Amino acid sequence: MQHYPKPIRELIRGLAKLPGIGEKTAERLAIHILRNSLNDAEALANSIVTVKQKIRLCTKCFGLSDDVLCEICRDASRDASLLCVVEQPADMIAIEKSGAFKGLYHILGGNLAPMEGVGPGDLRLRELFERIGAQGIQEVILATGTSVEGEATATYIANQLGGRNVRTSRIASGVPVGGDLKYIDQMTLKCALDGRHVM
Ligand SMILES: [Zn+2]
Repeated sequence: MQHYPKPIRELIRGLAKLPGIGEKTAERLAIHILRNSLNDAEALANSIVTVKQKIRLCTKCFGLSDDVLCEICRDASRDASLLCVVEQPADMIAIEKSGAFKGLYHILGGNLAPMEGVGPGDLRLRELFERIGAQGIQEVILATGTSVEGEATATYIANQLGGRNVRTSRIASGVPVGGDLKYIDQMTLKCALDGRHVM
């Protein structure tokens, strides 16, 4: 890398900081950018800066947004009686990609992790309970992950909502679609059996 002129070395160094990009890939990307037109390079540079300048958190669901409210919260055709609680914006995007959910979201910003010093005050739980109190939500779907922390967070929220007039559900976990039972770990298989439904 030291054989490249300094601007290229800096580009390689910057690209190599991105997750999943080693120095070899960074070098390849840098050479690719160098070969592209100036227009393409400017468009790429501008889109990186624009993302940093324009993207903020939706004031309602805390998803990624380019306005006070995100596109999902602004969309009047979504079912506002259903609220799906997830850990991070990427989880919301994953559910959106599935096309299986037409309600609204609430992003906690993480999970309860007492060992790492993350308590209820560190997540957007107060905002969640305020929304549930004020906005005609009938069902809260707890879609935190199936890690110990994800389960603990879902249980905590379910307990807090116990006295309220709202249905609380947990996403099912178990055998993946197309999965072969003999390759599935015991814990996943146990969850699949526990979460079985009548056909
Ligand atoms: Zn939103």
